[in-house]
Amino acid sequence: MSFNAVEIIGAKRDGKILSGDAITWMLNSYNEGVVAEEQMSALLMAIFFNGLNSEELNVWTDVMINSGERLSLSGLSRPTVDKHSTGGVGDKISLILAPLVAACGAAVPQLSGRGLGHTGGTLDKLEAIPGWRAFLSNDEVRDQLESVGAVICAAGQGMAPIDRKLYSLRDVTSTVESIPLIASSIMSKKIAEGTEALVLDVKVGRGAFMKDFDRAKKLAETMVSIGTQHGVKTVAQLTNMNVPLGYAAGNALEVIESVDVLRGGGPQDVRDLTVALAEIMLELVGLKANPAEMLDNGKAYEAYRQMIAAQGGDPDYEFPRAAKIETYEAPRAGIVNKLDALGVGVVAWRLGAGRARKEDSVSAAAGVRVLVREGDRVEKGQPLLELHADDDTHMQSGRDALEGSFIISDEAPESTPLLIKQVRN
Ligand code: URA
Repeated sequence: MSFNAVEIIGAKRDGKILSGDAITWMLNSYNEGVVAEEQMSALLMAIFFNGLNSEELNVWTDVMINSGERLSLSGLSRPTVDKHSTGGVGDKISLILAPLVAACGAAVPQLSGRGLGHTGGTLDKLEAIPGWRAFLSNDEVRDQLESVGAVICAAGQGMAPIDRKLYSLRDVTSTVESIPLIASSIMSKKIAEGTEALVLDVKVGRGAFMKDFDRAKKLAETMVSIGTQHGVKTVAQLTNMNVPLGYAAGNALEVIESVDVLRGGGPQDVRDLTVALAEIMLELVGLKANPAEMLDNGKAYEAYRQMIAAQGGDPDYEFPRAAKIETYEAPRAGIVNKLDALGVGVVAWRLGAGRARKEDSVSAAAGVRVLVREGDRVEKGQPLLELHADDDTHMQSGRDALEGSFIISDEAPESTPLLIKQVRN
C-alpha cells in the first residue's frame, strides 16, 4: 500500500484515526529521511492537539522500539525489574533503589540519562565518583546483572533511535508536552531495555514535569497501558514533587545522602519512597523480601559498593567540599510556608550542578543542602539553605535565582502526602 505524508498529516489534523500501516510508514519514512522534518513537525503538532488512541499509540511505540536494538535479558538467574522517574529535584532514588532491590534478589537494569535544566540526571550524580564508568557494553550489562544484580549505566545509542530524532524535533516545535508523545518516548526506551517489570514514579507538583494531578494521572495511565500491552508488568506511583526530596540537590551531595540512606539513616522521605517503590518492584516479580530490613542490615549498602566497584568507582571515595560554601538566611521569623522544589532545583542548577545545553559539563561539588522543611518554625537570620559552588560567579548566579524559593509567613502550609496514588492496569 502506498502512503502520502500530506494525507496522513491532514487526517490527524482533522481528528481522524490513523491506520497502523500509515503510522508505520510515516515513522519509518521519517527515519529514512523520506518524510521531511517539516512534515513530521506538522504531524507532531496535529498529535499534540488531537492525540493518539490506544491502538495508534501501541503501533507508534512499536515502531519506535523496532527502530533499534533490544537488550536480551532472558536467561538471567534473577527476575528483572526496573524503575523510571519522570524527574524531580533531589531525586536520588535510583542510586539507592537499584542496589536495594538487587540485595532483595532481583536484577535491576537501570539505563539512565543525564540531567537537563532543573532536574538532575542519575549518571551525572554517579560521575561525581572519579573513575566510575557510565558506558558499558551489552555483555557487561548482562554480566553485572548476573553477578551484582544492579547496573546503572548510559542507555546505548542503538536503542529506539527514532525517539532521539523525534525528541529533538519536539524540542524545537513546542510539542514536548503531549501525553501520548511523552508516554511513547519513555516507554519505547524502557521496553527496548528488556525488563520484565517496571515501576514508574510519576512526579506531580511544582518541581515536576507534570504540575497538576489530572495530567500526571493521565500520563501514568497511558504509560501503564503501553507497558502492559507490550508484556511488561507495569505499575505507576504518583508522588509529590512540590518540595525537594531529602535535603540534598547536586551531584556529589546527592551521592552522599544516598549512602546515608543505604546505611540505614538519611532523610525519612527518601527512605520511605525508596522502600515503597522497592515493595512494588518485588511484588511485580514475585519476590518476598523486606527492603527496609535490607537498608538496616547493611545488605543494600554492600550491593551498592559492589555496583560502584564493578564500574570502576571507589565506593569509599571521600568527596572534596566545594570551594565556596555560603548560607541563605531567613529574612524574618515565622513558619516555612513554601519550600519550592522548582526554585531549589534552579538554584542548584545555577550553582553549577546542572546544565542548560546537552553538551555542557556539570560540577560534581556544586549544589544545595536544604536545612529546613516546609512547616518548620524559623527565627530571623536562621540558615535555610547551604549553597555550594566552585567559584564566586556560580555562587552569585545561584543567589540571584533564590527569589521565590521560600515563603516565610504566619500560616502553616497545606500538606500533600508523599505517595499520592497508584495506577495499575
Ligand atoms: N523523558 C523522555 O524520555 N521523553 C519525553 O518525551 C519526556 C521525558
